[in-house]
Amino acid sequence: MDNKIALITGASRGIGAVCAKTLARDGFDIWANYRSNDEYAQKMKNEIEQLGRKCKLLKFDVADAEAVENALSPLLEKEIPFCVVNNAGFRKDALLVWMKEEEWKSVLSVALDGYFNITKTVLPFMLRNRKGRIINITSMSAVLGVPGQANYSAAKAGLIGATKSLAVETAKRNILVNAIAPGFIGTEMLEGLPMEEIIKNIPLGRTGKPEDVAEMAAFLASEKCQYITGQVFQISGGLGA
Ligand code: NAP
Repeated sequence: MDNKIALITGASRGIGAVCAKTLARDGFDIWANYRSNDEYAQKMKNEIEQLGRKCKLLKFDVADAEAVENALSPLLEKEIPFCVVNNAGFRKDALLVWMKEEEWKSVLSVALDGYFNITKTVLPFMLRNRKGRIINITSMSAVLGVPGQANYSAAKAGLIGATKSLAVETAKRNILVNAIAPGFIGTEMLEGLPMEEIIKNIPLGRTGKPEDVAEMAAFLASEKCQYITGQVFQISGGLGA
């Protein structure tokens, strides 16, 4: 693999930061996007540099098309990532009857506009290179009914559709597009959830670790993965089995 750059959105903390470190371990230099948390982003960058890899910090909101274009276009003139991990996301839970328009739109926008803005900017370069990997972090909420997550479930289900469609569009150019659907993974995103109750429904009886997701991303980004595209991998401790 001669081109080893991975662009990871939402890489300052949680699953994205561990994906960045895991891909760096596997030899990738990292372009790490985040939105606000400079301190966490710098810490993650230092850890990657300790592994002997380069890390560019790219601070922008993935839902802002102009910001994405401004940040990525100058870099893409010089180097092309082999792998993109569309990971940035957040949840704003509310029962639909009380959900505000902003809660609906912002959650859809970070997942779907974010995916569109990032992928559309990088894809022409990947197509020209005739190789690449796109990994979309969706959620078990896309496939299970979760009360209070109509916005998040819709966004993440949309991302599964977008994954499958793009996989078929780009297969002939050797670009593999897959999704990972985590269940409950121990990050700040779980704050405020009734975990004691939730864990009772997870067959393995515990939450997952960001590493569980990152190792699947590392496999999908690796040379070992050659004949898999358009798939959704559930990392959920048996939830949804
Ligand atoms: P997290 O710990 O809350 O981290 C979220 C990351 O996304 C942070 O780096 C944050 O940057 C970044 N981010 C948020 N909005 C952004 C935006 N508009 N533009 C750019 N970056 C943005 O979340 P996580 O648990 O690691 O989740 C990562 C992904 O996995 C998300 O897509 C989430 O939906 C999905 N997921 C998580 C779980 C879980 O149980 N944790 C389960 C299923 C799916 P700043 O810190 O700079 O704001």
